[in-house]
Amino acid sequence: MASQVISFHYTLTSRAGEQLDFSRGQEPFSFLTEKKQIIPGLEKELLGMKPGDKRQIAVAAKEAYGSRRDELVVRVPREKLPGSEVKVGDRFRGGPEDDAPVFRVSEISESEATLDANHPLAGVDLVFDVEIVATRAATPEEIQHGHAHDGHGHH
Ligand code: ZN
Repeated sequence: MASQVISFHYTLTSRAGEQLDFSRGQEPFSFLTEKKQIIPGLEKELLGMKPGDKRQIAVAAKEAYGSRRDELVVRVPREKLPGSEVKVGDRFRGGPEDDAPVFRVSEISESEATLDANHPLAGVDLVFDVEIVATRAATPEEIQHGHAHDGHGHH
């Protein structure tokens, strides 16, 4: 099937009912299909929908951001933190490279800090309430760039 651009509104909640994100009040979210731009468990379901269709789509953690991995949680001496003002919830990149892991500070004690490089939604079962706004064929330029050129695309 040829690549499409799908635009949709969504409300994202955890299966436990906590609202995590939503697109209402902004442009709908647009993405190019077949480019792994959104989580596979969601894309698979959106492909079968038409403009105006509304659905609730449950995506298990393993088809979303994966399971939490204990090996991505590390304890370091507190003086290794970048600065003395760092507090729980802060995020920082673990190195100068663009693809260096992002750590979230999950705990700080007198002498140690616990850093967690798991995606914040790892291990979370997700529920998307979606409404398809528009679908269209992707342009050759979009296919070449690998992303949609409206909504949250770049340019
Ligand atoms: Zn582009």
